[in-house]
Amino acid sequence: MVFEAVGEPLREVTLPVPKPGPRQLLIRVHACGVCRTDLHLLDGEVDVPAPPRVLGHQIVGTVVGRGEGDGAPGTVVGRGEGDGAPGRVVGRVEGGDGAPAPADGSRVGVPWLGFTDGICKFCRSGRENLCPNAEFTGRDIDGGYAQYAVADERFCFPIPEGYPDLQAAPLLCAGLIGYRCLRMCGEAERIGLYGFGASAHIVSQVAKSQGRKVFAFTREGDAAGQQFARELGVDWAGDSSQTPPEALDASIIFAPAGALVPTALAALEPGGIVVCGGIHMSPIPTFDYDLLWHEHRIGSVANLTRRDGEEFLDLAPKVPVTTHVTEYPLENANQALEDLRGGRFTGAAVLVV
Ligand SMILES: [Zn+2]
Ligand SMILES: [Zn+2]
Repeated sequence: MVFEAVGEPLREVTLPVPKPGPRQLLIRVHACGVCRTDLHLLDGEVDVPAPPRVLGHQIVGTVVGRGEGDGAPGTVVGRGEGDGAPGRVVGRVEGGDGAPAPADGSRVGVPWLGFTDGICKFCRSGRENLCPNAEFTGRDIDGGYAQYAVADERFCFPIPEGYPDLQAAPLLCAGLIGYRCLRMCGEAERIGLYGFGASAHIVSQVAKSQGRKVFAFTREGDAAGQQFARELGVDWAGDSSQTPPEALDASIIFAPAGALVPTALAALEPGGIVVCGGIHMSPIPTFDYDLLWHEHRIGSVANLTRRDGEEFLDLAPKVPVTTHVTEYPLENANQALEDLRGGRFTGAAVLVV
């Protein structure tokens, strides 16, 4: 299912099976999660630099082949000075330094972060999510809305045992990004989640397992969404326009609505933080300084690091995180995207390949 131009639905086309290059894996895709970022790509709010492009960055599949060689000449794989340079990562999947790449037949996950240069100041300081030369799966690199995908072996994760393919897919972006947002909330005891979709339904479970209180905010009158949040154990659920029963230490905004920023600030305790978790947001309205006063902070989360992935995929089975998925056959990708836009399901949409 291929993106060709902004404003046009994805098109079903037949392509040759992609050929893996050096240090790349050929993956038979079993499932691919649908993400709000894909809507931003479709709508032109986030650029797809070189269409046509196969979207999809929450890929679960099996390794069925690999490229030959150890990296084409000139390919930067990272060589920081001293040991432990964050950019130098090989063979993460099997664990251990220099371990072989994932074996044929093993199950891997492919996230949004598809490549980093390994040598820039961000990569060398544990912030590869900000690498200016990063490439992203399903935007710069063909993704998982397809039977086959090719991915750099250094950017694939092992899928935790016990998660079927469909349930694992949402962990790879909704889960990872949510986890990074939650970490940015520090030790906050009372956390608001604005927009109770794929990410929030995972983050709420992690936050509750850590003994925090969770307050879920949905679109106005989304009784089903609020009921879903309560079933997952949140302490309170209501409309995003409502004032929560307690002041919050932190809030994460997953909905792409800039108007929620001043709303969330108004519900904060002194010293609280508002974390914007999406890749795009509508303009943020002006607001009085009073809303920022008392050391309120506003931040954003961009992309992920491989360390986020390792930490979260280690943590998820221990919580244990349960993902609620609505499945669509691959050829119904456009329907899944429109249902996401319309808020017509709870939890996460996953394409079954
Ligand atoms: Zn995503
Ligand atoms: Zn870099």
